[in-house]
Amino acid sequence: MPTRTAAAEPGGPAGDPPAERARELRAELEHHNHRYYVLDDPEVSDADYDALLNELRELEAAHPHLLTSDSPTQRVGARPLDRFAQVRHLQPMLSLANARNAEELRAWVVRLGNLLAKSGRDGEELDYVIEPKIDGLAISLVYENGVLVRGATRGDGEIGEEVTQNLRTISDIPVRVADAPPLLEVRGEVYMARSAFAALNERRAGAGEATFANPRNSAAGSLRQLDPQITKSRPLSIWCYGVGAVEGLEFPTHREWLAWLEAHGFKVSPKLEVQREVEAVVTACEAWEERRESLDFETDGAVVKVNDLEVQRSLGVVGREPRGAIAWKFPPMTGQTVLRSIMWNVGRTGHMVPFANLEPVQLSGATVKLATLHNEEDLRRKDVREGDEVIAMRAGDVIPQVVSPTAAAQRRPDRAPPPEPPAHCPSCGTETVKPEGSAWTICPNRASCPGQLFQAVKHFVHRGAMDIDGFGEKQSQRFLADGLIANMADIYELTAERLGELEGFGEVSARNLVQAIDASRERPFHRVLFALGVPGIGLVGARALAAHFRTVDALMAASPDEIVEVPGIGPILAETIADTLAEERTRELIERLRGHGLRMEEEGPAPGSEGPLAGKTFVVTGTLPSLSREAATERIEAAGGKVTGSVSKRTDYLLAGANAGTKLAKAEQVGTEVIDVARLLELLGADG
Ligand code: NAD
Repeated sequence: MPTRTAAAEPGGPAGDPPAERARELRAELEHHNHRYYVLDDPEVSDADYDALLNELRELEAAHPHLLTSDSPTQRVGARPLDRFAQVRHLQPMLSLANARNAEELRAWVVRLGNLLAKSGRDGEELDYVIEPKIDGLAISLVYENGVLVRGATRGDGEIGEEVTQNLRTISDIPVRVADAPPLLEVRGEVYMARSAFAALNERRAGAGEATFANPRNSAAGSLRQLDPQITKSRPLSIWCYGVGAVEGLEFPTHREWLAWLEAHGFKVSPKLEVQREVEAVVTACEAWEERRESLDFETDGAVVKVNDLEVQRSLGVVGREPRGAIAWKFPPMTGQTVLRSIMWNVGRTGHMVPFANLEPVQLSGATVKLATLHNEEDLRRKDVREGDEVIAMRAGDVIPQVVSPTAAAQRRPDRAPPPEPPAHCPSCGTETVKPEGSAWTICPNRASCPGQLFQAVKHFVHRGAMDIDGFGEKQSQRFLADGLIANMADIYELTAERLGELEGFGEVSARNLVQAIDASRERPFHRVLFALGVPGIGLVGARALAAHFRTVDALMAASPDEIVEVPGIGPILAETIADTLAEERTRELIERLRGHGLRMEEEGPAPGSEGPLAGKTFVVTGTLPSLSREAATERIEAAGGKVTGSVSKRTDYLLAGANAGTKLAKAEQVGTEVIDVARLLELLGADG
């Protein structure tokens, strides 16, 4: 066998460590490209993939002889699947260079200036268009004389998969375009809205089908189907962000093209901005990062493009990246990691609460090791097991959560068995029980389990309940441990002097905390009722009970048959409420809190009786941009409106924020008007 010479070895000689590493990285990246682009089932997080790609890029820059034309740094995507017809793109579909921060973006602008200077366009001022970078999959739509004749995925950038029929099922893609030039290629990103993704996953889980890991995979998997009927059943949409090959129409700038597309029925990304100053460009990118979590579509960055198309063309392409555009990448919100173990806590009403001990993973720029697994039922539904590779997510101030096991983990034959809740309470050691007909295992030691007491105090003081500023998890734990409080009523006997004696607790913070405790006496009765933590009473239920019975005495005197008349309260819950309120310790607590001046009667008019929203029923869902759901609910009720927990034909309005999920889908189904905060304020009237 002939021995290979160094020169014959592509990408560097064998035995040379950088060359070996480059080969290893290439093989690994090829493998991940296949999983991601072809199978829509990645094995590693995007951040991990990007780290490998960056390592290869740096290696090739340091050792230019290692660069091969087929290196993953030089190509986009992966070869198209044989099961689809293949189409050669009229113009290559490229990728984008990345900037990870403001500094890298500024450096790109300086590089452009230098390049222009070299080509004799010294000092030319450039305008930049800033758009969201949508996390879906790139497609090309070819229109001949205004008729959609071909649609394709990006594939390997040169050759894509023909998915015209599937694209035709997406109602946001026009199949005919008026006044179109003879040839027009539109480029855009097919995506699935977060709310639609959540609803789809819920439906699939309910039907016992595998759920998708994220909206991007779900969009790619839904579009790349052989049966267009399947694609049609999936809620896909598109944002268009540019054109490829065109004949018979020309515009000097990218922005003008987008305006033309929008005027001709294409969905073009919202809030586009044109800026000249580099700092204004940075601010615009940061604004996208800030609004990222309130959007109903996933973005993984902002894209900055040179507006002048002639300049864009003259800047050319390096490898697979046009020089005239750059993607400012946001830190990933979701990531893949390993679930080391499932641990259990006890909740405030005695439920066993599972949480995840994870291999540390970077999410939205923070290292995450612990994440919620919600509850026993959810754990079973998602089929998460110890040792699984899982998708974890962290969005805003929401507690990090485990979304699902990866598809690969689910297929593994040597998986751990499904997790079981503990036989003894992790806090007090009492044997746990699973009441008949219940999905949850509980610690029956309601009277003296320290874990339940801690959770109950934490719940009592939190924002949606008594909202005691400066009294959080840490303080709850400490005051209980130091014996300063033994239950919720004791909170109102805390004095600045006693607190001031605690180590590390200054005079000022002690005084502030006592003031905050005092202020909480003003909370309306339904908040007090919610804060009490009766099993099964959430804020919506507390509101409904307070509205119906008006006083705590009337509620305590009510029989389960009377309680069940309250909207949203079923017979089992009514029994639980009556039983809990009849307990000696609950009665004692209520009397002590009443003695401390907490409100035990609902004030103001009964909901629905007067005010601009009298007789109107609302449901509030999702993350609202400018006020909390509780605040929105209070304002609606103060104006005579009623707020309920689920959408039905009787609901007048759904006030929806970001990630509205199934309630939004339901509202659309039953024809409930969906409104945003601005519209709510209008309904409330100018002084609302
Ligand atoms: P990219 O996604 O970073 O950027 C290019 C793409 O951005 C375009 O092709 C287009 O589809 C899209 N885009 C969205 N909005 C746009 C807009 N307004 N204007 C222009 N383009 C817009 O680069 P890439 O090469 O397509 O893909 C790399 C990405 O895929 C990385 O995030 C990488 O982490 C991920 N990936 C992950 C794995 C994995 O195994 N986890 C494997 C391969 C790739």
